[in-house]
Amino acid sequence: MIYDPQIYTIEDKPEVPFISEKEIEVILEGALPEKEVVRNIIAKSLSKKRLSMQETAVLVNATDPGLIEEIKAGARLLKEQVYGKRIVLFAPLYVGNLCVNNCEYCGFRTSNKSQKRTTLTHPELIEEVEMLEEMGQKRLILVYGEHPKYTPEFIADTVKTVYKVKKGNGEIRRVNINAAPLDMEGFKTVLNAGIGTYQVFQESYHRGAYAKYHTGGLKKDYDWRISALDRAQEAGIDDVGIGALFGLYDWRFEVLGLIRHVNHLEAVYNVGPHTISFPRLQRASNVDFDPTWEVSDEDFTRMVAILRLAVPYTGLILTARESAEIRDEVLQFGVSQIDGGTKIEMKAYSEKEKDQDLDAEQFEICDDRSLSEVMDDLIENEYLPSFCTACYRTGRTGEHFMEFSVPGFIKRYCTPNAMLTLAEYLEDYGKNGIKEKGYRLIQKNLIELEDDKFKTRLEERLDRVKQGERDLYF
Ligand code: SAM
Ligand code: SF4
Repeated sequence: MIYDPQIYTIEDKPEVPFISEKEIEVILEGALPEKEVVRNIIAKSLSKKRLSMQETAVLVNATDPGLIEEIKAGARLLKEQVYGKRIVLFAPLYVGNLCVNNCEYCGFRTSNKSQKRTTLTHPELIEEVEMLEEMGQKRLILVYGEHPKYTPEFIADTVKTVYKVKKGNGEIRRVNINAAPLDMEGFKTVLNAGIGTYQVFQESYHRGAYAKYHTGGLKKDYDWRISALDRAQEAGIDDVGIGALFGLYDWRFEVLGLIRHVNHLEAVYNVGPHTISFPRLQRASNVDFDPTWEVSDEDFTRMVAILRLAVPYTGLILTARESAEIRDEVLQFGVSQIDGGTKIEMKAYSEKEKDQDLDAEQFEICDDRSLSEVMDDLIENEYLPSFCTACYRTGRTGEHFMEFSVPGFIKRYCTPNAMLTLAEYLEDYGKNGIKEKGYRLIQKNLIELEDDKFKTRLEERLDRVKQGERDLYF
């Protein structure tokens, strides 16, 4: 069947749901992965141009092992050429797991009576943040179930509280949120509290699959959810994160759904999402999984490479749902942010020796390394861990886009700021030999800087960090 945009494309307008299942199916059906075509598409992405849905579909349909390797090699090259070795670190903090919805895959769903329900009290929230600061975290994402208790004012209060907590040299400099869709006024309230990114996942872009898994509560309404980021944009939040939960429906369809979402936001608001997340379904309390659409490790790694090529200027987030091995593997294809030292049980950061308990968490995580272990592994592999929050705090929003499109941006800002925040980490929290290793990596990155004047300025700042000054950035 020949794709005819006149027939299928829904016009992009504010708050109008834009997904046409038919359109995506037709594109997937018509995308033939001929060798030369695949190679031209990879070359287009490497010339820093973003791919259309049709081009992305061609990559998705490529099953020849040789071509898959070329796609992965392309993603690896793009990552190296554009972003270098920097990886931004963050941690999730679960604020409350009350939930009125009944997402069949989630341990927090309302029908799961064995889930232990809690909302952090003000002192508990402070205690959790103190523990996170003592680990060296600087960037958090606060996570909430959907419940009348979690009003925009409640969310805003928790955000403001987190910013105020200071333990030793520790502080949280950027608070993102993952919360249920709000109305426009609600978004304005959380924006005024100083959130960084507002993140919400569509879970599945396919209405049929969405309806199967969302059987109760407010989340049943596909249209309310898919228009959430439009309302966020209209309320003034231009830093938004999208995502799909892989395993609910065909991963090929979901990849195109994500690209369609990017197109929509760019068409209507002139700015695409800041980040894309692609969680894979994990075991959760009292959940029986339907394996029909389970995504294998092979397909998952391939999918990350395709996403990297399709949207070369969007941040890609990979969480501790995945094992350390998978994380290591896909880092090279262009993941830009990972969490470290993650605990997703309520109050788990302050209650130190707690074992994982499915009835106290949303789902199971597969990477339980501490932040310091994650840092150590990154440094060992010569990735440059970064806690940088400079863009957000200097009003340079859309940093991923700038990193990508402004010549020299990464060299002038991102890499030096990564080094400065790494030096802070090493001074304040660097244990067990990591300090020496970390400074060796900083030194290696310093040598690679070409501009001698700038190098001297950076060295001066690194010295000031060693002397005890904090929060220096370009
Ligand atoms: N309640 C809010 C919502 O649904 O938008 C907050 C999000 S929830 C706490 C964070 C995300 O976790 C969900 O959007 C979903 O994609 C993901 N999730 C839920 N259950 C999961 C599971 N069993 N395995 C992996 N990810 C899961
Ligand atoms: Fe509630 Fe979110 Fe879990 Fe759905 S995914 S049950 S809305 S916490």
